[in-house]
Amino acid sequence: MTDRNKVIQMFSGGLDSIISAQIMRNEGFEVIAIHFYTGFNGNMARDIAGKPGEKWTPGQSVVDAARKLDITLMPIDVSVEYHDIILNPRYGYGSAANPCIDCRIFLLIKAREVMEAEGAILVFTGEVLGQRPMSQHRNSLRQVEKRSGLKGRLLRPLSAKLLDPTIPEKEGLVNRDHLYDIQGRSRKPQQELADTFGIDWYPSSGGGCLLTYKQFSKKFDDLLAHSDRDKISLNLLCSLKTGRHIRLESGVKIIVGRCEVENDYLMTLLSPYYWYFEARDFEGPTVFATDEPAEEDFAKIAAITARYGKGRDEESVAVIAKKGDEERVFEVTPSKPEETEKLLIC
Ligand code: SF4
Repeated sequence: MTDRNKVIQMFSGGLDSIISAQIMRNEGFEVIAIHFYTGFNGNMARDIAGKPGEKWTPGQSVVDAARKLDITLMPIDVSVEYHDIILNPRYGYGSAANPCIDCRIFLLIKAREVMEAEGAILVFTGEVLGQRPMSQHRNSLRQVEKRSGLKGRLLRPLSAKLLDPTIPEKEGLVNRDHLYDIQGRSRKPQQELADTFGIDWYPSSGGGCLLTYKQFSKKFDDLLAHSDRDKISLNLLCSLKTGRHIRLESGVKIIVGRCEVENDYLMTLLSPYYWYFEARDFEGPTVFATDEPAEEDFAKIAAITARYGKGRDEESVAVIAKKGDEERVFEVTPSKPEETEKLLIC
């Protein structure tokens, strides 16, 4: 049964989604705000603190925003399914590793399913016409609307007056005169609108999507160039979020944890499947080989492990390599910085 008063929002917790929610609240709608977790959005530190498979919860700023707006927050973790969207996007990537069109279609399909289950009349987003080059020009807005099965049921309150009217607008359930005609990359109109709503607590910028970062993209491109795409696991993809990535001349990739949090995160992701290296007598990183090392690679990886630890100035450092029940010890001279710098992916 349809509830004419209920609407579904794709809610990021950023300025655009906050004022879009306020617009719909001002029109008297009950808003259910879906906050998706793709595994690659949100705050980096919080992301890497959560292990794959562990229950994810939204950040405090998102929870607080929903409470202040008096909307119902519905967190949905799509990180496992999202793996395929990153690796096999039908519409390709933006300027980095961001498959924005496929991502929008995928998330909007999920939102449509919620709309149907809740009997709501539409899905709305904080999208602004022309704000993002790949996913928010007129054709891509139309395309994702159609491909998500939301034709006529997808409202963008901030740019609605510049777009075709939705079915609820035509039926008079949403007053088009109370919607907006914002377009372009400037945030000023949204900030002014927030002022008129008395909202001064919005975040200065969103948590961001890691897939749009050039640094992430370098690691992603390297992984694709050296792997069979079908065999890239979710854990391997998640390992790109963190650490110092190095590719040896032999082609073997290693990841050096840069702090305890990264070491722990990588350990959870990778240790069941790959060799990892740690200095025996000195503090330092955990280093993971995400390809099977050849015999001559072991000593090289051990030397790099020693180079990033507290024993870097010693003549000889003992490094333990482990994988499952196997364990080996290597006595090595730490490698020189210039030897590893030239192998650095990012
Ligand atoms: S920036 Fe990231 S989360 Fe946003 S549409 Fe693109 S891929 Fe999806």
